[in-house]
Amino acid sequence: MAIILMATVNLLSIIPPKMIGNVIDQIRTGGLTEAELYRNVMLLVGLAVMIYVIVYIWITTLFGNSILLEKLLRGRLLQHMTKMSPSFFQRNTTGELMALATNDVLAIGQTAGYGVMTLVNTLVGTAVVLITMVSLISYKLMLAALIPLPFLTIVISMLGKRMRKRFVAAQASFGQMNDRALESISGMRVIRSYVQEEHDIAKFDEVTKDVMTKNMKVAAINSLFHPSISTIVGLSYAIGIGYGSYMVFHNQISLGQLVSFNIYLGMLIWPMIAFGEFINILQRGTASVDRLSASFAQTADVQDHDPVVAVAQPGRIELQQLSFRYPGAEHDSLNGISLQLERGQTLGIVGRTGSGKSTLLKQMLRQYPIEPQKLLISGIPIEQIALSQVRGWMGYVPQEHLLLSKPIRDNIALGNQEATEEDIRKAIEMASFTQDLEQLPEGLDTIVGENGVMLSGGQKQRVSIARALLVNPEILILDDSLSAVDARTESMILNNLRKERSGKTTLIATHRLSAVMHADWIIVLDDGRTVEEGTHEQLMLHGGWYKEQFDRQQMEATLAG
Ligand code: ATP
Ligand code: MG
Repeated sequence: MAIILMATVNLLSIIPPKMIGNVIDQIRTGGLTEAELYRNVMLLVGLAVMIYVIVYIWITTLFGNSILLEKLLRGRLLQHMTKMSPSFFQRNTTGELMALATNDVLAIGQTAGYGVMTLVNTLVGTAVVLITMVSLISYKLMLAALIPLPFLTIVISMLGKRMRKRFVAAQASFGQMNDRALESISGMRVIRSYVQEEHDIAKFDEVTKDVMTKNMKVAAINSLFHPSISTIVGLSYAIGIGYGSYMVFHNQISLGQLVSFNIYLGMLIWPMIAFGEFINILQRGTASVDRLSASFAQTADVQDHDPVVAVAQPGRIELQQLSFRYPGAEHDSLNGISLQLERGQTLGIVGRTGSGKSTLLKQMLRQYPIEPQKLLISGIPIEQIALSQVRGWMGYVPQEHLLLSKPIRDNIALGNQEATEEDIRKAIEMASFTQDLEQLPEGLDTIVGENGVMLSGGQKQRVSIARALLVNPEILILDDSLSAVDARTESMILNNLRKERSGKTTLIATHRLSAVMHADWIIVLDDGRTVEEGTHEQLMLHGGWYKEQFDRQQMEATLAG
């Protein structure tokens, strides 16, 4: 609709110059009556009003839709990101993704709005004016005036190519600046405590300087467009006036026609500039489309098997020689792990730092591609079960807690938006957070700040645990989730879990062995391998790393107590 209306405006705007030419010719021949003049003026005013209305409609339509396009693209981008696995976010930094969602989407929106506008103006505007010049005035004069035009195409295509290259560089650099800003702001406390402000400012200065130079290069090319076009159009004008006057002297055209012709020539300037702008915007738009499609083209490396096998309830969990290597890593992080866990049992995973505890737990969450037929739930390979089903069973408390800057209530109800006040209270009670909650200024409605800055480490852990318990998961995964709470609180939480979660499976990775003492089975990992396994009693009898570590921790606890 916008395009049709724009074309209509272009058609309507060729009427006034013709009328002006006619009036001038009538003045020259003395045939202009008062009534005729009045009629002409009224017509001109009427046309102006009409064009005003049509322009208003097409601008709102076109730019309204370009804003809509931006909204749709941003939505699609976020939807795409929610499907991506951790390796995607390892490849694409937050800053780059933010740049995509802001600058690049904006550039695409501008191409759809401003770009379409300039394109239609160029094509229709030029065509209409040229046809009018030929049919109403003189094709010879038109041809002469248009001699400089081919140069325009050459100049514009040359500048356009360079523009695109520089623009891609500028956008990439903008992404890096985003990253840098994000790091500085989120790491401000650490930076300050190590007195690295000056250093950080200097570093940021470098990045912003890079963005500046790259954008200045874009601006340099950009500023060449306008003068190049104006010069070439100016040449056309010179020819139009010079050769046109010559034709008037030789009675090949009338004075009125010369005036009309020059107004028409003036009407060509905007479409020509629009053409330059169009190329310019198109280059930026396509550069951004390329960047965006490159992101859309990355598929999730964990996808649903086709067809998926439905499993009503997760039963026994079995690992058969499971090995795993992070994408791009040099060494296996898990190496031939085997174990069996019946439904309702608790598994303890212990071992030195970096031994593969978290990695093993992440396999249950299907965050990374997994070797087929190695991890079975109820006898079905986990990769054949729908991702949504697997994740629906799990309540995951990650090692690095993630709290949103929202009220505690929303943080806990993340996995179950319909949870009642009572459900939330119960989860909080089980996570032994009730007393802490009473201390908080607004209880459940306290906003915890970005990533929970206003909570202590142990409080954050317990909010995360309450969040996982609220969904009453079939399989609860605690990754070192009690490391920051004192021994008494730890044993209270573990007691609650044993009572409330009987019949449901729990996996606990920990450094504090007292947390897995009561587990049905404990594995000790070292360098991705199981080096010891058994119940607490068996491992104590065995007398290896577990016993040594357990005794030391007991002794430390006694000394501390
Ligand atoms: P901690 O007790 O400190 O939490 P962990 O036993 O949980 O340690 P993991 O996080 O499982 O250890 O790491 C096991 C190994 O895998 C380590 O050597 C680590 O460097 C490597 N690793 C972890 N995450 C990645 C990753 N995203 N890409 C590549 N290697 C990784
Ligand atoms: Mg870990």
